[in-house]
Amino acid sequence: MKPADSNGRVKGGADAVLTASGLGVGFFPEGKARLEVVGEVDLCLRPGRTTALVGESGCGKSITAASLGGLLPRGMALDRGEIRWAAGAECRPGRGLAYVFQDPGECLDPVFTIGSQIREVLPKEERGGAGERMSALLRTVGFEDPARVLASYPHQLSGGMQQRAMLALALAGRPRVLVADEPTTALDVTVQAKILRLLAELQRQENLAVLLITHNLGVVAEIADEVHVMYAGRVVESGPVELLRNPRHPYVKGLLKALPRLDGADSRLEGIEGSVPPLGRRPAGCRFHPRCPLARAVCQEREPEMRRRGEEGAVACWACGEGGWA
Ligand code: SF4
Repeated sequence: MKPADSNGRVKGGADAVLTASGLGVGFFPEGKARLEVVGEVDLCLRPGRTTALVGESGCGKSITAASLGGLLPRGMALDRGEIRWAAGAECRPGRGLAYVFQDPGECLDPVFTIGSQIREVLPKEERGGAGERMSALLRTVGFEDPARVLASYPHQLSGGMQQRAMLALALAGRPRVLVADEPTTALDVTVQAKILRLLAELQRQENLAVLLITHNLGVVAEIADEVHVMYAGRVVESGPVELLRNPRHPYVKGLLKALPRLDGADSRLEGIEGSVPPLGRRPAGCRFHPRCPLARAVCQEREPEMRRRGEEGAVACWACGEGGWA
């Protein structure tokens, strides 16, 4: 469990590769005031650990991840908070930080072979003996015939093979942090399981800190160590992954109720009424209040802050104080 103050704010750990505190990303529409896309996000990424960012589409997960490596879309800027790297760790995509995105077919360049794309990412000092290192990388991600894959163009590989090639590409720069943004969403279910197993294996072998972005709580429960649940640009509950067994925040409870059950206990999917408010139309007070079955007047008036609950994590909800409503 990472250290935090009484408000759940991350203080960072001696072993953290990357600590982010109070991160805020703004969108600056021409001639208009700043709109908050993401705010008050704290992260502590440590070697050999997987931190998951979860929530519905539009909650700010990918923007948070993009802000760490300077990959924000045009018109947005990381203008709040602080990112600290461990001594000696270099932060830039392809070096300290590497990304694997949802659709490998979109990320790989169709006109270059896999080999030439991996070579581009290798540190300069390794380009001399590139063939050997590239073959080793491809073996690490499960290819038994690296020579054939190195000579292949992306369209000659299946979706699962493309994603494994993307993982090799990501590892080529010897990153300390791997950001996996919905890495299996575009793949078949059977391939998804293989890629997730591979991701977990690579994390162990390379001692990587992994930031996993997903809307799939089943995946999180299986491979994450810590989880941060985001809603409308803010983290609403965070802590060790075990919190998913007994979440406090009504939004997290709702997400879990929307998961299909395979044990036949209750096959109804309850879901959450309504949808995530778009940028610029986020409500005052608790952003979840229009969808929350527990909402009271205070929820419409004041935004709850993250409050720590012992070792169980932190939660931002007026109804989740010690002994009930704060
Ligand atoms: S603060 Fe109020 S509206 Fe927000 S999640 Fe808690 S109970 Fe629901």
